Amino acid sequence: FLALGVPMTLGVIGVTGWFLGGVAMQPTRRAYDQLQRFTADASHELRAPLAAMLSNAQVGLLSPDDSAQQRLRLEKIVAAAKSMGALISNLLFLSRQEGPLDAASLKQVDLVVMLRSLIDDQTTQVTAQGLTFTSQLPAQAVILNADPDLLRQAVMNLLSNAFKYTSPGGSVQLRLSTSSRFAVIQVEDNGIGIPAADLPHIFERFYRVDTARSRQTGGFGLGLAIAQQIIAAHRGRITASSALEAGSTFQIELPLKG
Ligand code: ADP
Repeated sequence: FLALGVPMTLGVIGVTGWFLGGVAMQPTRRAYDQLQRFTADASHELRAPLAAMLSNAQVGLLSPDDSAQQRLRLEKIVAAAKSMGALISNLLFLSRQEGPLDAASLKQVDLVVMLRSLIDDQTTQVTAQGLTFTSQLPAQAVILNADPDLLRQAVMNLLSNAFKYTSPGGSVQLRLSTSSRFAVIQVEDNGIGIPAADLPHIFERFYRVDTARSRQTGGFGLGLAIAQQIIAAHRGRITASSALEAGSTFQIELPLKG
C-alpha cells in the first residue's frame, strides 16, 4: 500500500513509476499487513472527529438552551464533520485512482496558465500570513496531456505544505521550467525542513514527521501520498529534498505532450 521512497543521494528521495504505488497484487503477507495497518490508521483518524461530534451533540442535548454555547457546540460538530468528510474524500481518492489515467480524462493543458491561476488564488491569503510568495514561469506555453483538476490538486498539496511548514517572514517559490521531454515544477520553501530520517517516508499514507505539529495544522499525512499518486497517474515523478531548519524543495516532473 505504501508509496516507495527510493534513496538517490543523501537527503534526496525519489518516487518513481505508478507501479510502485498501490497495493501489491499478490495476496502476500506483506500486502495483508499493509492493508491491516492502513485500515487501523484510517479508523484511528476517523474516530477523533467522530468522538468530538458525539460529545458536543450530547452535551448540547443535555444543556438548557443557551444560544452562544449551543452555537459553539454546533460549530465544533460542523468542523469535525467537515474534517471527516475531507478524510473520507482523500481515502476514496487514494483507493480509486491507482493506475495511469485513461486517455478519455486527459486534456491539453497549458501549465503556465494553470499555475498562474493557482498563484492568483493563493497570493492574498499567503501574503496575509506573513509569507513572501514568488514565482518563475516561462513566457511561452508549456503544454501537456493531463487531467487539469487532478494536476492542480497535486501542485496545491505541495504549495499548501510549503505555506503550512514555513513560519511568517519566510518565503515560498513556485517555478516551472522545461527540459527536452519534461515539464519541471518546483515548490521551494525556507521553512522548518524535514529530518533526513523522515524524508524517505513522507510520501507514505498517514506519515507525519511530527504528529503533534502536523495535527495542529490539521493534516492527516495524506497530502503527499495523493500528490504522488496523481503524478504517477500522469506517468511523472515527484521527489523531495530538504534540510532541517533550512527548507524543502519538492519537484514534479511530467512528460511533455509528444
Ligand atoms: P500533512 O497533511 O500532515 O501535511 P503530507 O502528506 O502533506 O501530510 O505531508 C507529510 C509530512 O511531511 C507532513 O506531516 C510534514 O511533517 C512533512 N512535510 C511535507 N511538506 C513539508 C514542507 N514543505 N516542509 C516541512 N515538512 C513538510
